[in-house]
Amino acid sequence: MNNNDIDQQYIWHPYSAMNSDLPVFEVESANGVRLKLSNGKQLIDGMSSWWCVIHGYNHPQINAAITAQLGKMSHIMFGGLTHEPAIELTRALLPLVPSSLQNIFYSDSGSVAVEVAMKMVIQYWHAKQQPQRQRFISFRGGYHGDTFAAMSVCDPVTGMHGLFENAIHKQIFAPQPQCRFGNNCIDDDIAAFEVILEQHAAQAAAVILEPIVQGAGGMWFYSAGYLTKVRELCDKYDILLILDEIATGFGRTGEMFACQHADISPDIMCIGKSLTGGYLTLAATLSTNDIANVIDSSEAGVFMHGPTYMANPLACAAAIASLQLLKFSDWKHNVKRIEKIFLQELTVCKEFTNVKDVRVLGAIGVIEMKQPVNMKEITQAFVDAGVWVRPFGKLVYLMPPFIISDDDLKKLTTAVVNVVKNIN
Ligand SMILES: *Cc1c(COP(=O)(O)O)cnc(C)c1O
Repeated sequence: MNNNDIDQQYIWHPYSAMNSDLPVFEVESANGVRLKLSNGKQLIDGMSSWWCVIHGYNHPQINAAITAQLGKMSHIMFGGLTHEPAIELTRALLPLVPSSLQNIFYSDSGSVAVEVAMKMVIQYWHAKQQPQRQRFISFRGGYHGDTFAAMSVCDPVTGMHGLFENAIHKQIFAPQPQCRFGNNCIDDDIAAFEVILEQHAAQAAAVILEPIVQGAGGMWFYSAGYLTKVRELCDKYDILLILDEIATGFGRTGEMFACQHADISPDIMCIGKSLTGGYLTLAATLSTNDIANVIDSSEAGVFMHGPTYMANPLACAAAIASLQLLKFSDWKHNVKRIEKIFLQELTVCKEFTNVKDVRVLGAIGVIEMKQPVNMKEITQAFVDAGVWVRPFGKLVYLMPPFIISDDDLKKLTTAVVNVVKNIN
């Protein structure tokens, strides 16, 4: 059997059928912003491997950091033991995150970081003698991961709650924020959310949302004013606020963390995806001292979670190197530069009859079509045009590595505009 047949017959891919006629492309290597397919074709990467690869592939400094750590130890259990990579990573992270976040729980994927956040707040209210507070308030259009608790707070339609109806907890959903990023948030925009808080404050453990950018649930950018009001209302009704920065963290929206557009800080923050520059799987849940202290003082006395690969040293070493690269690069300028080129090059799509909306924020460009795209045709068209772009539903979106050159970025946008123009 050739590679393609083995893959097709035996290997699942994300959100795919086993007997799918959708093509998968074998990548032999990747360098900078280019993926090299096994047939020799080179593609300019428009996806950063789902938000992660902010510095590009095969980066000499991250390679060196992992190699150096490999020679010392690749893994050690974190129960009762600690290591320099975890300590150094913590030292590097603390000055970047909102200053109220002082406790870090490392885990191995974004979904787990969300599970950990949800467990923390349930333990918190338990310790505060309010064990009835176990429900979560989230938003339509949200996405927080694929495990059961994370899935329960995803958009009920795109999160397929019908299918898993009796297996997931019923959470409370606020409408999707309507006010666009860059606009003010008027009281009418937030009124429905306040009604929900008022009704459910007694049973609600926390509000969970993606700050500014709703990612996989719809690639929607909403007003910073809305986020400010969410923080105010959570305080008013004494509900904890979890911000899921797994997609938005580390510069993608033009600020280090998206909550900084609104100048607010959460009680708990989840990070992941680009934390290691796209090298290894690592995530974290950060909390305030208040949350940690209350959990410590509870009857259980400990936080009840402990992944086998917690704070994996190789992953921590990659993350330290990635944060160093951010620190010593002008990432903010790069993200602005990408934003400017996206605005220049993608806005023309607004005039196409098959396009509903074009939106750009930081190093994210989104073309929302009127109809869902035909994945088989559009993927092949992108590959033929020399770019790697993976739409979902009606959304064709780009989030390239920050280091992409103007020239490559224009090749990417030109290819995308041409393909989109020809979809009927
Ligand atoms: C990707 C993502 C997750 C889930 O992360 P995994 O590493 O895929 O488990 C959670 N929340 C948001 C906002 C994400 O974009």
